[in-house]
Amino acid sequence: MKAPAFAYCKAATLEDALQFLDRYGDAARLLAGGQSLLPALNLRLTHPQWLIDIAGLEALRGERLQQHTLELGALTTHREIASSVLVKTHIPLLAMAVPYVAHAAIRNRGTIGGSLALADPAAEYPAVALACEASVCIQSMRGERKVKASDYFQGLYQTALESDEILCAVEFPIARRNERFGFQELARRHGDYAMAGLAARASISEEDKIEQLHLVFFALGDRPMLATNAIACLIGQRIDSQTIRAAQQALDDDLSPPDDLQAKAATKLHWAKVLLGRVLAALASNKGVRAND
Ligand SMILES: Cc1cc2nc3c(=O)[nH]c(=O)nc-3n(C[C@H](O)[C@H](O)[C@H](O)COP(=O)(O)OP(=O)(O)OC[C@H]3O[C@@H](n4cnc5c(N)ncnc54)[C@H](O)[C@@H]3O)c2cc1C
Repeated sequence: MKAPAFAYCKAATLEDALQFLDRYGDAARLLAGGQSLLPALNLRLTHPQWLIDIAGLEALRGERLQQHTLELGALTTHREIASSVLVKTHIPLLAMAVPYVAHAAIRNRGTIGGSLALADPAAEYPAVALACEASVCIQSMRGERKVKASDYFQGLYQTALESDEILCAVEFPIARRNERFGFQELARRHGDYAMAGLAARASISEEDKIEQLHLVFFALGDRPMLATNAIACLIGQRIDSQTIRAAQQALDDDLSPPDDLQAKAATKLHWAKVLLGRVLAALASNKGVRAND
C-alpha cells in the first residue's frame, strides 16, 4: 500500500520543529529514523497532515557524559549505540539489549528517541530505560521538562509526551561498580520484536546478597512491567535454586499477559519464568555483566 498524502517540512533547527508542532499539534508527526513511522503510513495506520523531518537536527545528536549520567541525544541510532564505548562502559544494560533491536538495515536508521516516543510494548529500550531509572528530556514552546521512565510509559503506545513536545534526549544514570546486569529475550528470529523479554539491574553485596534489584519484563503487557513481587522475594537473599523458584512463583502476581495470536497467557507467563531463571542464574554467576567490566 502507499502512504496517504501528507505535506512535508524539513526542520532546520530545533526551534523550527517546535514552532511547527506548536502550530499543527496532533495533525503533525515527527520523522526521525522513519523505521516505524513509514511502515505505519504505508499501512495507513496513521494519517498525519504534516511530516516534520527532524533527522538533520544537530541539537538532538551526540553523547554527553556528566559526573553521574550519560545523556544520549534522541537521534542516536541503534548502530551508534551498538558501537559506543561510552554506552558499553556506563550503560552496560543498553549495550546488552541493542543487538536484539531489529535487523542491521533498521539499526542504521532507527533512533533511541523514536523507539521511546513510539513505546512499543515489545521494544527493548523502554524496558532498559525503566530498569536503569533513566529520564527523558522533553521540550516544547512552553518550556523544558524531565520525566522519569517510571512516569513516562503510560499504556499501549501511550507516553507522557504531549502532541506539541519533542523528546530531545535520554539521561541514564551511569552504572555503579557493584552493579550487575542481565538481559534475555525470546523472539521467533533474531532481530524480530520480542515475544517475551527481561532487562535486569542488580546491586549485589560482598556476601552475594541482593541489595537492590530492577526486573523489567517487556512484550508481556501494555508497557514495560516492573516485577515488584518477584523483586520483594529476592531483596536481601542470595540467589539459589530456592529463591529463584520463589521469585518465579511471585511472577503470577506481577504479570497478566493477554492471550494473542502468538501464544496463550499461560504460555507467556511460563516464558517469563524461564527468562527470570536464566537472568538470575547469570546475575549470580560471573556471566551477569558487571559495571565497568
Ligand atoms: C521489521 C522491523 C523490525 C523491528 N524490530 C524491532 C525490535 O526488535 N525492537 C525494537 O525496539 N524496535 C524494532 N523496530 C522498530 C525500530 O527500532 C524503530 O527504529 C524505532 O521503533 C523507531 O525509531 P525511528 O527513529 O525509526 O522513529 P520514527 O519511525 O521516525 O518515529 C516513530 C514515532 O516516534 C515519533 N518520534 C520519533 N522521534 C521523536 C522524538 N524525538 N520526539 C517525539 N516523537 C518522536 C514519530 O513521530 C513517530 O510517531 C523494528 C522495525 C521494523 C520495520
